[in-house]
Amino acid sequence: MKEYANKYKVPIIKDEGLIFIRDLLKIKRPLKILEIGTAIGYSAIQFQNSCDCEVYTIERDETMYNEAVKNIKLANLSDKIHLVFGDALDIVEDFKDMKFDVIFIDAAKAQYLKFFVLYTKYLNDNGLVICDNMLFHGLVLQDNYDELSKSLRGLVKKLDAFREFLLVHSEYDTTIYDIGDGISVSVKK
Ligand code: SAH
Ligand code: MG
Repeated sequence: MKEYANKYKVPIIKDEGLIFIRDLLKIKRPLKILEIGTAIGYSAIQFQNSCDCEVYTIERDETMYNEAVKNIKLANLSDKIHLVFGDALDIVEDFKDMKFDVIFIDAAKAQYLKFFVLYTKYLNDNGLVICDNMLFHGLVLQDNYDELSKSLRGLVKKLDAFREFLLVHSEYDTTIYDIGDGISVSVKK
């Protein structure tokens, strides 16, 4: 899966970040995890392996989704990892009868605040919200530099605002770790 991700430039989680989150999951022992941003299913499979939990994971890109379906079948985890095809911003209500112990946010960076606000209503007390790419090191500028640098500035601003939002949130204790591409862990008080 790593080779595929490399070849097609799929931004799967970095090794150090993954080791850190796997350790957290081994301690936390969640029964249910919700992931926003499946890509090819790499992190979902790794999380499932580390704590034998059930994983619900959302992906809006059809190619990624299909690749994830394939990988999860190959890993024999179709009964443990539930792939949901759709835009996470549109399908919040699909989860209305569920509660999660961990929510992992790893989709469009500009929308982190929205994902957090929409989905934390499904978080159990003492649950964790973990976000990837909070420090944004992994970004490489390509092709259209001017275009990108402008939208990039917007993105960085949004991530900054989200970081601030987390740090001052009265219902969560948040730490941002300089591991991998930056990982935040927010514990619901
Ligand atoms: N968690 C994966 C990597 C995810 S990459 C891993 O570490 O293995 C981010 C993915 O989020 C991309 O595949 C992208 O298509 C998806 N995505 C971005 N915004 C989304 C949204 N609003 N709803 C659902 N998926 C989204
Ligand atoms: Mg990521």
